Amino acid sequence: MNRRDMISTTLKGAALLGIASIPGVAFAKRSTAPYTLAPLPYAYDALEPHIDALTMEIHHSKHHQAFITNLNRVLADSPLLGTPIEELLTRLNEVPANIRQTVINNGGGHANHAFFWSILHKPGPWNEPDRSNAPEFYPAVLEQFRSPGNLFELFDKAAMSVFGSGWAWLVVNADKKLEIMTTANQDSPLMVGKTPVLGLDVWEHAYYLKHQNLRTNYVRTFWSVVNWSAVNAHYKKALS
Ligand code: MN
Repeated sequence: MNRRDMISTTLKGAALLGIASIPGVAFAKRSTAPYTLAPLPYAYDALEPHIDALTMEIHHSKHHQAFITNLNRVLADSPLLGTPIEELLTRLNEVPANIRQTVINNGGGHANHAFFWSILHKPGPWNEPDRSNAPEFYPAVLEQFRSPGNLFELFDKAAMSVFGSGWAWLVVNADKKLEIMTTANQDSPLMVGKTPVLGLDVWEHAYYLKHQNLRTNYVRTFWSVVNWSAVNAHYKKALS
């Protein structure tokens, strides 16, 4: 057993015993906890009839889980394992080149889906952002887009323009302004220094069971389930 194996074995033993650190072992305090899938904060059928329960269950428990499983596998021997996922996507230059694209695909997949779940599901009927449900976000929408309706229209166009698999986003950019953008595959806006406040997964797995090839129906119905209070919270955090 070489020294590296010995440290690894010692750390695994310590983890089994619940020991947080071992005096004299340099790497003992490093966080190498694998990424885990958080339960959805609402039921799989909570977004019916707009997004169906079976789609939500497969999307969360299979697709999102697969990104996490693959990310844990590719970072298994890396000190970056366990880095908060948003932070990891801003430190890709530290990821070895031979695994960087796999980390982008699966780390982006993990971050994007965790974000997406966080802005879906709200109590009550269809509504727009306003001064009561989005006190900080709403004025920014007026400033940048003149009205929520204009925002919806431009965002829908962006979502429809994604060729193949990707995402539409509303982000806060470096000038602290709202901006609509798209990303391909599982690329995250965080990779280019932009912070998501609203996002829509337009991979076919996100809508095909219910809407089949009609992405436009899915994009339109998405607005019925957006939680504006959650969007407002992301917006406030992006400005801080
Ligand atoms: Mn997805």
